[in-house]
Amino acid sequence: MLQKVICKKDLINTAEAMQFGDIHIKTDPETGLRAIIAIHNTKLGPALGGCRFVPYESSDDALLDAMRLAQGMSYKAAISGIAHGGGKSVIIKPDVIQDREQLFRSFGIFVDTLGGRYITAVDSGSSVGDMDIIATQTKHVVSTSNSVGGKGDPSPYTALGVLRGIQAGVLHKLHKDSLQDVHVAIQGAGNVGYHLAKQLSALGALISISDSKDSATRQFADEFGATIVDRENIYDVECDVFAPCARGAILDAGSVARLKATIVAGAANNQLAMPEIAQHLFDRNILYAPDYVINAGGLIHVSLDDEVLIESKVNNIHDVLVDIFERSVKETLPTSHVADRISQEIIDQAD
Ligand code: NAD
Repeated sequence: MLQKVICKKDLINTAEAMQFGDIHIKTDPETGLRAIIAIHNTKLGPALGGCRFVPYESSDDALLDAMRLAQGMSYKAAISGIAHGGGKSVIIKPDVIQDREQLFRSFGIFVDTLGGRYITAVDSGSSVGDMDIIATQTKHVVSTSNSVGGKGDPSPYTALGVLRGIQAGVLHKLHKDSLQDVHVAIQGAGNVGYHLAKQLSALGALISISDSKDSATRQFADEFGATIVDRENIYDVECDVFAPCARGAILDAGSVARLKATIVAGAANNQLAMPEIAQHLFDRNILYAPDYVINAGGLIHVSLDDEVLIESKVNNIHDVLVDIFERSVKETLPTSHVADRISQEIIDQAD
C-alpha cells in the first residue's frame, strides 16, 4: 500500500520496496541549491510532478518527502488516465535565500540534465514565476505563466476536481444529488480553498473556513458568507464534509477521533499521517476520498492541451470516486486501499 514501506533508516531498501525508479541529487554551492529529483516510474510516460520549495529538518526528510510524493504522482496519473509517470522534486529552502532567480535557474539546469524523463511544475513554496525562470534553462517544465505561453495556476482545475469529489461523496454517503445546505468545513484558505469555496457557495453549500493566517479567511466571510473557525477547532465543526486544503499529514488518530463530518474530501497531498489512519476512518464510518484521486485536476490541466478533454477528465473524478466508494463497501476495505490497488494494476498492465 502507498507509503507503507517508508523507512528513514534504510533509504535504498525503502526505494526498492517502493519500486523506484531513480533518485537524483544536485548541490550547487554557487547558488545554494540543494535539490532532489525522484522519478518513481516512467512506464506510462515521462515522470511529471511539482517542485516543492520548503524547509526541511534534515536532508533525509526531504528525500523521503520527494519519494512519497513521486510515488503518489505515479498513482495519480495512472488512475486519472494520464500518460505520465510519477516524479517529484524538492529544493531544500535555505534559511536565507541569496538570489531566488539564480537558485531556480540552477534547478532548471538540473532538470534539463535528465533529458525530459522528468517534467517539473509548480508546487508548495514554488510559484508560476519560478517556473518561468526554470523555463529559461529547460523545456521540461509546465505551469509557466500565460505571458510566456504557459497555462498558469492549476488551482481552479484542482478545485473543480475536489468539488466533483465532494459531490460524489455526498451522493454516496448522504444520498443527495445537490449540495444545497450541505455544510463543508475547509481547512486552508489558499488558492484551491478559494476556488472551491466559490463553487460550493454558488451551489448553495454552507462553508466554514480556517487558516493559520487570519487575513486569508476574512475574504471568505465577505464573499461567501463563510463562518471563520479557529485553526485548532476545524476538526470539531459539526458539518457534513471536512475538506483539507492546507497541508499533508493532518489526519492522525487524534484528528480523526474528533471529526464530526462523515465525509473527508479535500485537495491536500498525503493527508494520512500514517497508512493505518485509512482503517481508522473506515472503522468510524467516515468516507475518505483518496487524496491523489480527488486532487488530480491540476495534473490533468497541465498535462493535456484540449480544453474539452481536460474538462471531461476533471469531471470524471466524480465517477472514478463513486466506483472506489462502491468497491470499498463491497470488499469491506478502506477507500485508499482500493485506489492504490487500482492504480498499481494500471501501472503493472503497462509492462
Ligand atoms: P496554498 O499555499 O495557496 O494554500 C494553503 C493555505 O493553507 C495557506 O493559506 C496557508 O496559510 C494555510 N495553512 C497552512 N497550514 C495550515 C493549518 N495548519 N491550518 C489551516 N490553514 C493552514 O496552497 P494551494 O495551492 O491552495 O494547495 C492546497 C493544498 O492542496 C496543498 O497541500 C497542495 O499540495 C495541494 N494541492 C494543490 C494543487 C494545486 O493545484 N494548487 C494540486 C494538488 C494538490
